[in-house]
Amino acid sequence: AGCSVCFKRHVSSSPSRLQSCMSAWVIDQYGTNGVLRYTEDITIPTVSSPSEVMIKVHAASLNPLDISMRGGYGAKLLKLRRDPMSVMDSDSEFPLILGRDVSGVVVDCGSEVTHFAPGDEVWAAVPPWKQGCLAEFVTLTEYEVSHKPELLSHTEAASIPYVASTALSALVNAGGLCRDSSSDKRVLITGGSGGVGTFSIQLLKAWGAHVTVTCSQNAEGLVRGLGADEVVDYTTGDVAEQLEMMEKFDLILDNVGGDTEQWAIGLLKPWSGAKYITLVTPLLLSTDSMGLLDGTIHAGFTLHTKAIQNIISSGVFYRWGFYAPDGPALDEVKKLVDAGKILPVVEAQFPFTQVPQAFQKLEQGHARGKTVVRVA
Ligand code: NDP
Repeated sequence: AGCSVCFKRHVSSSPSRLQSCMSAWVIDQYGTNGVLRYTEDITIPTVSSPSEVMIKVHAASLNPLDISMRGGYGAKLLKLRRDPMSVMDSDSEFPLILGRDVSGVVVDCGSEVTHFAPGDEVWAAVPPWKQGCLAEFVTLTEYEVSHKPELLSHTEAASIPYVASTALSALVNAGGLCRDSSSDKRVLITGGSGGVGTFSIQLLKAWGAHVTVTCSQNAEGLVRGLGADEVVDYTTGDVAEQLEMMEKFDLILDNVGGDTEQWAIGLLKPWSGAKYITLVTPLLLSTDSMGLLDGTIHAGFTLHTKAIQNIISSGVFYRWGFYAPDGPALDEVKKLVDAGKILPVVEAQFPFTQVPQAFQKLEQGHARGKTVVRVA
C-alpha cells in the first residue's frame, strides 16, 4: 500500500510535526450554514490503496452541489456509493467534509502510482461520494488527478476542475462533441454566467463552435469577454421569443433547468441529430424522497419517456448530463489553459477561516464564475 517513508518525509517535514490529525470544515448533520464546524481533529486521509495519491490542499472551490449536500441532497445515493455495507446505518457518513475542487501538492503516493510523485502540483475534482477538500489533505485515486497548469496559482486552478469535468462529461459523453467536430456547430448555453457556463463558453470557443448564451444583462460583458458570440438577456423580454428569431441550434447545454426544456427543445434543428442536455436532473431528489430503488426507477422512467417523446416528435436527443471524475480529461483542459485558451474566472476568494462566509456568498446566487477558498 502507501509509501510510509515518503509520507513521513513530505508530510511531517512541512508542518514540522508528525501529524495524525488535520484541520477541516465538517458537518455532523445536514442543515443550513450553522452545521459547518471547524475542527483540527480529523484523521489524516493517508494512502490506503496502491493507486491512491495524497494531496496537501492549497485551494478549494465551492459549487452549488456543496450547498445542496450540506442540506442532505443526494444523501441516500451518495451513501450507497460511499459504503454499500453501511447504507442502512444512520449518520455513518459523518463527519462529512464538503468541497469538490482541489489544487494542491502531492505528498504521498501508493506503490502502483505511475504518473505522480511527491512534490507534484496537481488539480482534481473530488467525487461527491468521497471526503471533500475543505481540509488540509485529500486522498484520491490516480485516475482522478491531473497535473495543474503551471501558469495558474492554486487559487485560480481550484476554480476549474469540477465545472470542467461536468462540462466535458455533458458535452463530450452526452453531447457527442469534441475538438474536431465542433467548428460547424451552433451551441446554446443557458445560465452562461455561472461556473459551468463560463468554462463551457471558453471550451466551445476553443473548439471552434458558435456559442449563444443566456444570462442577466449585467453578465453580458463577462460572457462576451470569454468569447460568447451572441448574448440574450433573460431578464428583459421573453427569452424564448428572442432565441426563436435566431438560426436553430445543434446542441443546448442547460444550466438552469425548471421550465427551460419546455421552450428550449423547439430551438434545436429537427431530424439532424441535435441534442438537449440538462445538468439540472431529478435523479438525486428522487432517490432522496422515494428511496433508492423507487427513486432510481422513477427517474429512469422520466428520462426514458422524455427521450422517446422528443426523438419521435422532432428527432431531437434528450439527455441528462452528470459530473464524472476524469483526470485524463483535466490533462486536456490543462493544455488549453497553458495555451491561454481557457482562463480561470474567480469571482470571490475567502481564507480557510471564512468557509461559512464563502457558503453564504454562493447561496446568494447570481454567480459570475467561481468562489474559491484559500486553504494553505
Ligand atoms: P452557478 O450557480 O455557478 O451558476 C448559475 C448561473 O445561472 C448564475 O450565473 C445565474 O446568474 C444564472 N441564472 C440563473 N437563472 C437564470 C436563467 N433563468 N437564465 C439564465 N441564467 C440564469 O451554477 P453552476 O454553473 O455551477 O451549475 C449550473 C447548474 O448545473 C446548477 O443547477 C448545478 O446544480 C448543476 N450542476 C449539475 C451537475 C450534474 O452532475 N448534473 C454538475 C454541476 C452542476 P443570475 O441569477 O444573476 O442570472
